[in-house]
Amino acid sequence: MSARVERVNERLPEAGVDVMLVTELINVRYLTGYTGSNGIALIGADRAEFVTDFRYVEQAEQEVDPAFGRHRAAQDLLDAVDEMLPAGPLRLGFEDAHVSVRAHASLRELLPERVELVGVTDLVESLRAVKEPEEVARIRAATELADTALESLLTEGLAGRSERDLALALELRMRELGASGPSFEPIVAGGPHGALPHAQPREERVERGELVVLDWGARLDGYCSDCTRTVATGEPGEEARAVYDLVLQAQLAGLEEIRSGCGGRELDAIARSAIASGGHGEQFGHGLGHGVGLDVHEAPRLSQRSDDVLAAGNVVTVEPGVYLPGRFGVRIEDLVVVGEEGPDVLTRITKELILTD
Ligand code: ZN
Ligand code: ZN
Repeated sequence: MSARVERVNERLPEAGVDVMLVTELINVRYLTGYTGSNGIALIGADRAEFVTDFRYVEQAEQEVDPAFGRHRAAQDLLDAVDEMLPAGPLRLGFEDAHVSVRAHASLRELLPERVELVGVTDLVESLRAVKEPEEVARIRAATELADTALESLLTEGLAGRSERDLALALELRMRELGASGPSFEPIVAGGPHGALPHAQPREERVERGELVVLDWGARLDGYCSDCTRTVATGEPGEEARAVYDLVLQAQLAGLEEIRSGCGGRELDAIARSAIASGGHGEQFGHGLGHGVGLDVHEAPRLSQRSDDVLAAGNVVTVEPGVYLPGRFGVRIEDLVVVGEEGPDVLTRITKELILTD
């Protein structure tokens, strides 16, 4: 049986269930290898089963781990669950963060009394948080590709082009380099627009002498990258440089401490206090970072409310920012692999303030 299936099996007693029903597609993909848009998996009681519909039978043949029995459901995939469950009283886990109220009700109706439905939170997500070496290799490749795309965009210059045009160019470049797409809609935000942490690229042109926040990532082999650089289209002025340096110091302070065993909240606090000591604590309104993998935002979290403890093999971002409404914003984000001694920083683009056209 595959190592991932085995790990799910090991967690079932702790989750208080005999069999786990996995319906969240990204989790189904992680466990089975299936990349289509309709599939579920059942793991436990010495079985691993995969169910899809007619459209994906062929694809499932090619993709799904042979550890799984493969099945086709006529209509609703949940219809097939009952017949795959062992006899007798049974506790069936479902993914309570993903199963809708309606799907839960229809499951309850479909299944006999002997089956108790038990909500389980983040079981597969917690496995996904610790990357295997080949997963790290894919994220590293996605990061390199995204780095190259930005470098290529910067050689063309930013000033005079609209944010939207630049975001499109960045996305196109990533696709040309082999990405299946961006891992999220790229952010390109010039001057005052950079003060919106999740700015949508506008038709407005990037001016000369302003800071531009670029936050982008590539998706390659299913895995995401995520990076932010704030660059200047010519000399941005003393205050912009001072804020840039402050954010950089906070980012380096976070990187300095990151290793397995660290709390997500403690790391956030380290970067946050660096920014607060520069007088901008109020302008850093989001968490320090998040896990990245098959999803661009996943476990573990580095934030003021996180209870996560980092483990070797986590891949996380470190991305403090300062946002001055109506003026400018600065964010610097690297993607790193957490190790026992410290981080392996995947992002290769310089963090010296880049002055571009
Ligand atoms: Zn980002
Ligand atoms: Zn991020």
